[in-house]
Amino acid sequence: MNHQPFETWLLDDKHLTAAEKRDLNSHLRECRNCSALAETGLALRSTRTAAPAPGFALRFQNRLAAQKTAERRRLFWGMTLFVTIGLGLFGWLAAPYFMAFAAAPLQWLFTAGSYVLYTVTSLHAFSEMLLILARVLPNFVPPYAWMVFLSFVAGVGLLWMVSIWRFVRKPMRVTA
Ligand SMILES: [Zn+2]
Repeated sequence: MNHQPFETWLLDDKHLTAAEKRDLNSHLRECRNCSALAETGLALRSTRTAAPAPGFALRFQNRLAAQKTAERRRLFWGMTLFVTIGLGLFGWLAAPYFMAFAAAPLQWLFTAGSYVLYTVTSLHAFSEMLLILARVLPNFVPPYAWMVFLSFVAGVGLLWMVSIWRFVRKPMRVTA
């Protein structure tokens, strides 16, 4: 069957005269090829006009802005919650001290002062004790024991330094 010139008319989407239209219609009735082609052309023409719905860009921008606002709001409430919990925890921990101070400021100051004094005195006493021990011990411990002790301390110190050195060097090695 000869499909020309109908095939060309259909493919070119040609504007037809009345006589040409009649010829084409009679050919389409007999020819399944050209009628299929005509249907495809109709389908293509109907989808070619598919454009984004009106206001699409505006709606997209609005949605984007709404999303940003929601994100900002989430961040704000997250920070608020974080700060509130932090302050609450701090208040809960510090409240006894504040209450004690508010109830009796002088007594609180006295207690704090005596605590500091106690710490200083204990440290002082401890250092005194160490000094006394250092002065007294050599008289009780024989010299060779001191040599053993000192070499032991030196050995441990050396081991410690080596282990630190290896620990520090290890991460620098490049693994293949
Ligand atoms: Zn045909």
